[in-house]
Amino acid sequence: MMPPVFRFAPSPNGHLHLGHAYSALLNFDRARETGGRLLLRIEDIDATRCRPEFEAAIYEDLAWLGIDWETPVRRQSEHLADYRAALEKLSALGLVYPAFESRAEIARLVAACKADGPWPRDPDGAPLYPGEAKSLPASERSRLIVSGAPYALRLDMAVACQRVAGLTWNELGEGPDGERGMVAARPEAWGDVILARKETPTSYHLSVVVDDALQGVSEIVRGQDLFHATSVHRLLQALLDLPEPAYRHHALIRGADGRKLSKSDCSTGLRELRAAGVSPAGIRRSVGLG
Ligand code: GLU
Repeated sequence: MMPPVFRFAPSPNGHLHLGHAYSALLNFDRARETGGRLLLRIEDIDATRCRPEFEAAIYEDLAWLGIDWETPVRRQSEHLADYRAALEKLSALGLVYPAFESRAEIARLVAACKADGPWPRDPDGAPLYPGEAKSLPASERSRLIVSGAPYALRLDMAVACQRVAGLTWNELGEGPDGERGMVAARPEAWGDVILARKETPTSYHLSVVVDDALQGVSEIVRGQDLFHATSVHRLLQALLDLPEPAYRHHALIRGADGRKLSKSDCSTGLRELRAAGVSPAGIRRSVGLG
């Protein structure tokens, strides 16, 4: 049997904190317990927020924690052609459309919808896309594209869900409401998600699914903040004919105020803790892995 494959996939848009340490150590420990492989993936598709010095700091902090990973590291910004190919496959299935509204226009449309009653929100709390771009006549679409108007490519969720209904995943960890075992995917809760933007020809959902498949990841260990995103990931895997990994979502490490940790809070940053004399064993203990 092939050894299981795990991955830790941080974005280099800030320094790692205790929450990242917990996730990385869980992946590392699972790989060791199971005789599996641990990969590290740098999720740097957002060129405006990702910086090489944060990437260098990720390597330094993980090595300090005693984690080792296989090289070469996959850096998403170097693989845009892979994501483009997946997008083309979805487009060829008639599941993708360009939407030309700016963020401000979308906010105005949502406000107008709300005037008529409550407007649905996605599991992260953002209002669902209210636009009508899906029904723009083809001639109008071409005119806008030729005119150079910026657009995002969105997934036609209703049609996608008709193609692949009844998706589930195997949850080896636990969702925020105690979900475990076979979980029913509810991608429709996300509405017509963005798959690519004009300036970034991919999105988190698309690239994570393509990479996990290309890298043969068999068990995805990550925070519960991404539990609901798994519904979109399962849908994209099914549409793109990609294998289904198992998922192990873990509880989030929270700050003293009970809130999710932030990359800008120095009190839980690994570099700050290291400078204050905390040892890697101390970090393990403070995330409950001692
Ligand atoms: N890059 C994502 C993050 O930094 C994690 C992606 C994943 O584990 O699926 O939160």
